Amino acid sequence: MTNKRSAAHIFSRSSRGSAAAAAALLLLAGCSAGPDESPRASASNSPAPQVSTAPSASPSPSPAMSVSPSPSPSPASEELGEGKPLYRMNEKSFRFSPISDAEKKVVLLSFDDGPKEKEMLTSMLDTLEKHNAKAIFFVNGYRAKEKPELLTLIHERGQIIGNHSWDHIELRKKSKAEVQKQLGDVQDIVEKTIGERPRFFRPPFGAGGDVGKAVAKEEGMLYMTWSNGSLDWDLKATKKDPQLVIQQVLDQLHPGANILMHELQWTADGLDELLTKLEQKGYGFIDPATIELPKS
Ligand SMILES: [Zn+2]
Repeated sequence: MTNKRSAAHIFSRSSRGSAAAAAALLLLAGCSAGPDESPRASASNSPAPQVSTAPSASPSPSPAMSVSPSPSPSPASEELGEGKPLYRMNEKSFRFSPISDAEKKVVLLSFDDGPKEKEMLTSMLDTLEKHNAKAIFFVNGYRAKEKPELLTLIHERGQIIGNHSWDHIELRKKSKAEVQKQLGDVQDIVEKTIGERPRFFRPPFGAGGDVGKAVAKEEGMLYMTWSNGSLDWDLKATKKDPQLVIQQVLDQLHPGANILMHELQWTADGLDELLTKLEQKGYGFIDPATIELPKS
């Protein structure tokens, strides 16, 4: 595994103020609603009120110019699962940081709302493989039931399947029993199809609430929203244009970024260029198998 890093690549942000705008937009959030705990997660236009905990509200200049002190050649070997974790997620910002001497300039790639369509998915899987990158595919149960063969495809291509609830509904207002069913049924269908239960959970609209967090924990899953929204779902922001999706991700880029994307054609079309640009900036890709999981 080649983990390209450009030494002393100083973390520069565009000073055009677009970062702040992007951060504000980001709060409008994945799958067209606000991140977690927003009182009006699916409300229309008003920026989500809980800006204080906003993932990317502060660009966090992160002195990433230290030329990685220890060479530690292979950050993510094939020691899957129970190997020593290399990255820990911050439970408030959903960013990742190295546990010890793992590379700091890394991002997590993730794609929500599938599995949808074989051709598009295959293109994404090909691109990930070309870049030797791993990602989490957060799937919905109702889609998985329609096309279980696509779950198998994701798994056989070495990518990770996460749980995104059965129906893609806003969970935080639901009863615990209902949330248990929304998550548990996905766990079951994924296990039945690929033989493993997901270990990562992302609530639809970034709005799982306390109940979503609790049920995810019961299932032994790491609960996350994101820290870098590509806005690929927001047709006003990205206009189905791969270049605008790429620009969004780059504008919101930071070490340890948790990048939210979707199984969408324009995202698939821009993915190769996006990953190339991330590599050129010295970023590697977190292997989800190296993320620290909740203790079960
Ligand atoms: Zn979603």
